[in-house]
Amino acid sequence: MPRLVMKFGGTSVADIERIRNVALHVKRELDAGYHIAVVVSAMAGKTNELVAWCKQANPRFDPAEYDAVVSSGEQVTSGLLALTLQSMGIPARSWQGWQIPIKTTDAHAAARIDDIDAAAILRGFEENGSVAVVAGFQGIHEDSGRITTLGRGGSDTSAVAMAAALEAERCDIYTDVDGVYTTDPRIVPKARRLDRISYEEMLEMASLGAKVLQVRSVELAMIRKVPTYVRSSFDDPADPKLGTLICGEEEIMEHQTVTGIAYSKDESQITLRNVADRPGIAAAIFVPLAEANINVDMIIQVVSDASTTTDITFTVPESEYERTLAILEKNKDAIDFSEVQGETEVVKVSVIGVGMRSHAGVAARAFKALSEKHINIRAITTSEIKFSVLIDAPYAELAVRTLHSLYNLDQV
Ligand code: ASP
Ligand code: MG
Repeated sequence: MPRLVMKFGGTSVADIERIRNVALHVKRELDAGYHIAVVVSAMAGKTNELVAWCKQANPRFDPAEYDAVVSSGEQVTSGLLALTLQSMGIPARSWQGWQIPIKTTDAHAAARIDDIDAAAILRGFEENGSVAVVAGFQGIHEDSGRITTLGRGGSDTSAVAMAAALEAERCDIYTDVDGVYTTDPRIVPKARRLDRISYEEMLEMASLGAKVLQVRSVELAMIRKVPTYVRSSFDDPADPKLGTLICGEEEIMEHQTVTGIAYSKDESQITLRNVADRPGIAAAIFVPLAEANINVDMIIQVVSDASTTTDITFTVPESEYERTLAILEKNKDAIDFSEVQGETEVVKVSVIGVGMRSHAGVAARAFKALSEKHINIRAITTSEIKFSVLIDAPYAELAVRTLHSLYNLDQV
């Protein structure tokens, strides 16, 4: 029998009534002839509450104990869904990460999955068609025997990893939106739901600010070639829609030049003035930041002229702004700059599409359209299938809307 992984997020399992609705979605797929593993998140808001409790108990909490606490939300929902399915006469078993086991690294609160032993779940399929209800977000570090978690939003990654391990036909991610949109529909009401998007484009969208899926889950789907749907859990279980398929580029017949527009508010810009212009300076700036695990994104260096100094501008997440300034101050002598300037009221708007590989002038059109709206561009980066501009925060929505219609993404 073909296998299917179905994942339900926090709002989809927020109370018993919704869990019953989830069970009806599961029943439909069982009746269609699948062996099924369901991956569940904690009830909406639960993980936040658990995180807050950890902080209250001990602001300098031990990450291993944090994982023991925050993984409990998924234990509850997996048991409740198994109970609900059983009440409908459907054989079902809950599975915690350690019971399967889902083996991970020991990076508590941000662990990566190393390996999943699917044998016990497969045995359940063979014996009585039992539905495996898997607690998302969690695993075990084998050597220490401790529970781990995969980082916020990690149930998406649990689901894709489970689909790969079970060699499932596909992975359906049920959530509170009915698919992936060309941009955030809250900003652009004319945003369109995409029928298909390639793994690469989705990876960019998720990394650049679209919050539908955890980035790591898209990475994994791409590497393991897991066809993944993003679809709504609020559809009538008897008459559901398929949502958006994330798949290989070759499975998408017609490509627009641009597929979507993403934006991120968690950005800040830092400029170092009069930096010495000699070999080793970029390393003096960026190696200490890398060692502190600070993700530097855009980097611009003013072209050197006859003088002996230059200016370097770069961006880091706004959440890392203060830490970055502190590290630069500490290394001031080695870097040899005169002044540091910063700005946190900036956003990054990104335009994504595999069609850019074969079309020239895509970014140039954006620069012109933005200038016509008097939007100043602070920094630009480009890569094969995307480009990003950094602009002042108050212009974010105008910029997204402008670019959305420029590339004909508006719904007609
Ligand atoms: N419950 C976890 C979180 O809120 C994992 C998930 O929902 O994906 O981050
Ligand atoms: Mg999520």
